[in-house]
Amino acid sequence: MAEKRDYYEVLGVNKDASEDEIKKAYRKMAIKYHPDRNPGNKEAEEKFKEAAEAYEVLHDDQKRKQYDQFGFNGPQSGGFGGFGGGGMDMDDIFSMFGDIFGGRGGGFGGFGGFGGGRDEHQQRVYRGGDLRLKVKLSLQDIVSGVTKKFKVRKDIQCTHCNGTGAEGGAVPETCPTCHGSGMVNRTVRSVFGMMTTQSECPTCNGEGTIIKNKCHVCGGTGIVKGEDVVEISVPAGVEEGMVLNVRGKGNAGPRNGVAGDIQVIIEEEPNDTFVRDKQDVIYNLLLDFPTAALGGEAIVPTIDGKKLKLKVEPGTQPGKSVRLRGKGLPAVKGYGSGLGDLIVNMSVYVPKTMNREERNAVESLRDSSNFQGDSHTKQHIFEKFKNYFN
Ligand SMILES: [Zn+2]
Ligand SMILES: [Zn+2]
Repeated sequence: MAEKRDYYEVLGVNKDASEDEIKKAYRKMAIKYHPDRNPGNKEAEEKFKEAAEAYEVLHDDQKRKQYDQFGFNGPQSGGFGGFGGGGMDMDDIFSMFGDIFGGRGGGFGGFGGFGGGRDEHQQRVYRGGDLRLKVKLSLQDIVSGVTKKFKVRKDIQCTHCNGTGAEGGAVPETCPTCHGSGMVNRTVRSVFGMMTTQSECPTCNGEGTIIKNKCHVCGGTGIVKGEDVVEISVPAGVEEGMVLNVRGKGNAGPRNGVAGDIQVIIEEEPNDTFVRDKQDVIYNLLLDFPTAALGGEAIVPTIDGKKLKLKVEPGTQPGKSVRLRGKGLPAVKGYGSGLGDLIVNMSVYVPKTMNREERNAVESLRDSSNFQGDSHTKQHIFEKFKNYFN
């Protein structure tokens, strides 16, 4: 892997960038390098991951401070590279961006990538490839959070060999060369004298085990193409473009290795009633003219499907907006708190056609100076002047 770039440099922001600037910069990068927009583009993928990691650290006050002070090798073991070490539940796993491509470094490689690294016995563990899914959510889904089921095509364990890759499910034998460690020591003579170096065992390719008789169904990989139903719970408050990382639900790991993840990309269905602005929702209320002029009540729908009565002041002007606190969307758990607002923008409805009676009624108002916005204002100013000179 290439040397890590400075997180500020990755996002193209200054060291003293505000949280907002960091967020904006990240969003820009995430959109530009989103895997969906750059299918098959490894470089974009890397950039996307790099930006996500940078954001994960810089948007968190504490992590940012640590990073500023210690660089990549923060006091936590493993530094910053390895967030999400496993054992997390759905709530933890979700993150706006950070866990997206979590710690294991397996990436999108899929089978053959040896992504998993070594376990504590130093044996090679295969990791299954990640999958990507899009999920389209209605505003209702987002308000309450939702669990969705998907049928996915993916690598599943070969039942013929129970995932071992050995014919008949035979237990793979411990490699006679490395005795299961996957590594061999070699003593070499060098200018400094005799030196011992460790390298991958050539007999088992670092796996620690060998299969004498490969499974004829999977050809020794332990995985076959199959179908699985995956249940994804999406927390409330998510937003278009967020990525939910569901650990261990991706492709099965070859030879009973570690399963890959599923990255769930959130898409929002447009809503007919509300326009979303982060945690706030905007509702455009069309008042009838008499209510705007005389005052009264208007019915405003809320995102939880209820309706509420809104008091309309007499003389309400088009363009007035009212903020109903706490009637908006929840923050994603762990990424904020509280509820957004419902913003009611008011405009006044002017009928396109009128019957004779209505026409007469409105006509009778035409000459009233009080109904002429312009002259009303002028008159108002004139009054002021008059008072001033008196
Ligand atoms: Zn070996
Ligand atoms: Zn098999």
